[in-house]
Amino acid sequence: MDGVIANLLNMSLREGNVQKGKPDLVAEDQPSGATWKPLVFRVDETTPDVVQSVLLERGWDKFDNREQDVEDWNLYWRTSSFRRAEHVNMKPWQRLNHHPGTSKLTRKDCLGKLLKHMKRTHGSPLYEFIPSTFVMPNDYCKFVAEYFKEKQALGAKPGFWICKPAELSRGRGIVIFSDIKDLTFDDTYIVQKYICNPLLVGRYKCDLRIYVCVTSFKPLTIYIYQEGLVRFATEKFDLSNLRNSYAHLINSSINKSGASYRKIKEVVGCGCKWTLRRLFFYLRSQDMDDLCLWQQIQHMVILTVLAIAPSVPFATNCFELFGFDILIDDNLKPWLLEVNYSPALSLDCSTDVSVKRKLIHDTIELIYLRGLRNERKEHGDHAHGNPSVPLADSDKGLGDTCSRLPCGSLLQFTSGTLNKDKPAIKKAVKIHAENKPAAQPREMMNRKDVLLSTREPPKTKPQFKGRPTAPTTFTPCVSLLQSPAHKTSASLRDTSDSSQVPHPQAGNFVLIFPFNEATFGASRNGLNVKRIIQVLQKRMNKQHSQVAEKKTQR
Ligand code: ADP
Repeated sequence: MDGVIANLLNMSLREGNVQKGKPDLVAEDQPSGATWKPLVFRVDETTPDVVQSVLLERGWDKFDNREQDVEDWNLYWRTSSFRRAEHVNMKPWQRLNHHPGTSKLTRKDCLGKLLKHMKRTHGSPLYEFIPSTFVMPNDYCKFVAEYFKEKQALGAKPGFWICKPAELSRGRGIVIFSDIKDLTFDDTYIVQKYICNPLLVGRYKCDLRIYVCVTSFKPLTIYIYQEGLVRFATEKFDLSNLRNSYAHLINSSINKSGASYRKIKEVVGCGCKWTLRRLFFYLRSQDMDDLCLWQQIQHMVILTVLAIAPSVPFATNCFELFGFDILIDDNLKPWLLEVNYSPALSLDCSTDVSVKRKLIHDTIELIYLRGLRNERKEHGDHAHGNPSVPLADSDKGLGDTCSRLPCGSLLQFTSGTLNKDKPAIKKAVKIHAENKPAAQPREMMNRKDVLLSTREPPKTKPQFKGRPTAPTTFTPCVSLLQSPAHKTSASLRDTSDSSQVPHPQAGNFVLIFPFNEATFGASRNGLNVKRIIQVLQKRMNKQHSQVAEKKTQR
């Protein structure tokens, strides 16, 4: 418990730093000396308010096309995808919050097809995390066959199915049925096995919103967020009434208008959301293996992203923040319901505020870590025989990470390498303080560091060794985006620099792929999905036997 409290403290210290005006800094060289310039974000009418407020709080400026040059921005964050031309015309100093070609993961019918394909290609057990899915109308005959097969097997007991529009969200158009005569659909629906034994908390059904950031598809680099949301139904789970949306659908857009939303509900309390951390504490208090659950979730995320990674076109300087919706059954097995593109960032309750604000802060930290790596080159890490960011041991990589998850580990992995950047950060903060009114936090850019990023990457072999050191108080990063004022050929090479080991952590984001040398190798210079799946399978087997051993020891 002490560790948890220390971590919570660390987290608030870290957030406090930004709020107290210790910004990420960027400078640009002028003939008269270094001047400091805020980074600029661009929005449209779909950009979530929380993104704007976090960026403003971090000292960014909002892009204004009347005052600024059309290319004079650093981050464009919006809900909808970007056009191909927008990706092609990206400048080296710019970032987009969407990657081309990822939306197929987020349509329910495409996800069903993709995972079915992976199941066929790589073997069933691995991809058994999505409920049986039938895409209508193509799979209608297969569904009917499955329906009657199950009916026969169950005898007098009813089976349950759910029919969902492929493209809608927020629970719209969903029907749960037991009798095939209640099934109506058109060609944009999927029919899925209804998980009728969900994990209940105080007799309420719940699901998880897990945030995942893919910072690059080539080479594949996946981070999972060690905090998230648990959404609850607001009426007690009851299979005898399939029409009660407040009991079966967990969408907060539905439940927040329910009569029981504000009531104090058994165990759950008021409202319909918990933090992920709170759920894991609860599971642990009920003697449930939250660690094993978290490991399974990580595997599910990797396996799902692998389903699209080979087909995603190469694009630099963009990232994708996904929202994975995961239902847990009463055996603590996670089931993937869907993957959301632009997960909702509205702040409907205090839980939303605490999770989503920090999520955006940490996303910004994460996308600027590349800068830190470049800066490390200047500060001589290689000369000291530490050519890459140390990750967990190749055999322990994910296992090690998992072993401290989910309850006690948030922020325990703040790498020692961050400490090594401290002098530069301090320098940057100092310069910032001298050049800017202290009260106004600024996230700025250092041109010298950007130019360093054009240097050849080290020829040394990446190392996956050693545990990250103990947590330290968070120190803000120095951002190394290239200033629009410097339209040189310098680019953020690290996006395509496949020799660099990704940073293990940014705030609550932890690297889950690549997780050891084998997966690092298999994801660089082309993605060897078969090899990656073999390695993952081996790891999963090892973890299963560890869990089984633990159980027999009890
Ligand atoms: P939407 O995009 O409309 O939110 P989801 O697939 O996320 O659609 O489903 C909405 C809700 O329906 C989920 O929060 C969950 O409560 C319930 N649900 C969806 N699929 C299943 C399933 N296969 N088994 C049990 N519950 C499900």
